[in-house]
Amino acid sequence: MGLHAKPQPASPAKPPVAPAVWPQALQVPGGVARLSLGPAAARPRALVRQGDVDVPVLVVGDVVEWTAIVGIPLAAAPGDAFITALADGGSPRPLHYTVAPKRYKEQHLQVSPRTVDLSPEDQARYERERDHQARVMATFTELPAGQAQPSLRMRVPVPGRRSSSFGLRRVFNGQPRNPHSGMDIAAPTGTPIVAPLAGRVIDVGDYFFNGGTVWLDHGQGLLSMYCHLSRMDVRVGDVLQAGDAFCQVGATGRVTGPHLHWGVMLNRSMVDPALFIPA
Ligand SMILES: [Zn+2]
Repeated sequence: MGLHAKPQPASPAKPPVAPAVWPQALQVPGGVARLSLGPAAARPRALVRQGDVDVPVLVVGDVVEWTAIVGIPLAAAPGDAFITALADGGSPRPLHYTVAPKRYKEQHLQVSPRTVDLSPEDQARYERERDHQARVMATFTELPAGQAQPSLRMRVPVPGRRSSSFGLRRVFNGQPRNPHSGMDIAAPTGTPIVAPLAGRVIDVGDYFFNGGTVWLDHGQGLLSMYCHLSRMDVRVGDVLQAGDAFCQVGATGRVTGPHLHWGVMLNRSMVDPALFIPA
């Protein structure tokens, strides 16, 4: 240090770190918006227009401050978006937010040709299953009056390498298909999978693309799905606590190897599960 070195100012106090909130906000297609609904004695209602229907939005908080947790569809156009807040007895009020653009990468996969060019029988099966899944996805369970929404921070359902493949635009055997709408976690067949949050089993099935599949309902339109399972140890109606093992990793359905495909849904939109778990 030279003789004429300027005195260094005292290092500024570190800014207080805001407590982490779950899910984290990320206003992009496939992300989550957190929108303040202000104070109210009772949990307010909020709706989002999805396709041609209004669907309820998950609301967390208390009388001091309520927050709408909004799933942004992967197909959402960047730009202005809004939800409709319904105050008790008041008139509907639009709450606007902005969806930032996000270009997901393209992924090319080679799979069995029969899972890309479907036979008439497989096509009919797929369409039946799609309609059934749409009914499962429409589940919206109100929390009992006065019951607070528990923390939405999730456990990782299975240990293993987590791919950052959410949102990838997938090309199967050279043909573009729906984007990848979940997180893949690589693990050997038979590895136990635990519930990331308390929830109720709302669907158990064996589907053409998803293989062995379980859906959980965590309340207020927050659902999670587990695919390609080798074993499912639950029935519809079973209630799970966070951490309960309920199924096992497998390689059923359209896969290239054993892994868990984990999906998280808000207001009928698949969102990035990474927003619900610590990095
Ligand atoms: Zn997957």
